[in-house]
Amino acid sequence: MKVAVFSAKSYDREFLNIANQDRHEIAYIEAKLSEDTAALAAGFPAVCAFVNDKLNEHVLRKLHQQGTQLIALRSAGFNHVDVRCADQLGLTVARVPAYSPHAVAEHALALILSLNRKTYRAFNRVREANFSLEGLLGFDMVGKSVGVIGTGKIGAIFATIMNAMGCKVMAYDPLPDPDIAHFARYVSLAELYAGADIISLHCPLMPETQHLINESSLRQMKDGVMLINTSRGKIVDTVAVIQNLKRGKIAYLGLDVYEEEGDFFFDDLSQEIIKDDVFMRLLTFPNVLITSHQGFFTREAMTAIAQTTVENISAFESGAGHLHRVTVGLAG
Ligand code: NAD
Repeated sequence: MKVAVFSAKSYDREFLNIANQDRHEIAYIEAKLSEDTAALAAGFPAVCAFVNDKLNEHVLRKLHQQGTQLIALRSAGFNHVDVRCADQLGLTVARVPAYSPHAVAEHALALILSLNRKTYRAFNRVREANFSLEGLLGFDMVGKSVGVIGTGKIGAIFATIMNAMGCKVMAYDPLPDPDIAHFARYVSLAELYAGADIISLHCPLMPETQHLINESSLRQMKDGVMLINTSRGKIVDTVAVIQNLKRGKIAYLGLDVYEEEGDFFFDDLSQEIIKDDVFMRLLTFPNVLITSHQGFFTREAMTAIAQTTVENISAFESGAGHLHRVTVGLAG
């Protein structure tokens, strides 16, 4: 099958070529998929997209007109796809439901430990022969209360890691997981906000979770809370977070995702002027650590993403095998 892979980086080529073994005819397109670039997919029955590609009604209609039948997402999340519109057009949308939940859970841990022990600051200091410990004081993780919002595949592993470190784990999820309920205490969101020293977000972005972390929820949190978001940027109201960083309510902020990340994450813009003033304000805080949506980025996860993507395309083409389809029901 002819496949147009958008947002293709060198690492996408590397892992997809290994998984594909010449089964499908893949064209790699560096550009993000958008209204402006959808024409590049003309004549491709399959389009392969990533998290910051735009799959709104306009783009989907254009792809459909050009003969695309399958949208193969290289991600688990599908909040960037108008699933209802795809369904109406008869476009099949497939995703990679699970690749390595460990990758993201472990990245959340990396953010927590770096923020706590300030290794990101120590790295620069020592390179400049500044061996002072002033300002680098951390805290023991053991005994701290960690609130996990969303205990699906990633949240459950993250909760398990926190439990293993001797933390008290509180969790909130409309569908509690009995496997972690024997060490984690499921509580209301209000109780989690009031009691947690560290809050980590692992729920999907949906209308109910958009700006879940806002002025009102932040007010309910402990002074000096650590907030970690490795899920989706729009779950956090960034302007409210900045106000609460200025007040000292949030003492540590770790982000792997950002509300408007689609404009710049994954690209080298070191020679450009970044025009997003909200993002630039975040960068001025010494207690904010931002990574560019790299939670998923491990060798194991990339291998699994490529394998499932190729399997989805093969299953669609042959009508046999397992197609991990995104349906309107799944989108809610
Ligand atoms: P999952 O579907 O296994 O789990 C999501 C959990 O959230 C479910 O248990 C669900 O019941 C729960 N949930 C639903 N609504 C909720 C609400 N209102 N409040 C709290 N919990 C709610 O998903 P997953 O594989 O664990 O992934 C979680 C999220 O992580 C994804 O939606 C995606 O946005 C994000 N993600 C990020 C990266 C990255 O690289 N940073 C990679 C993969 C996934």
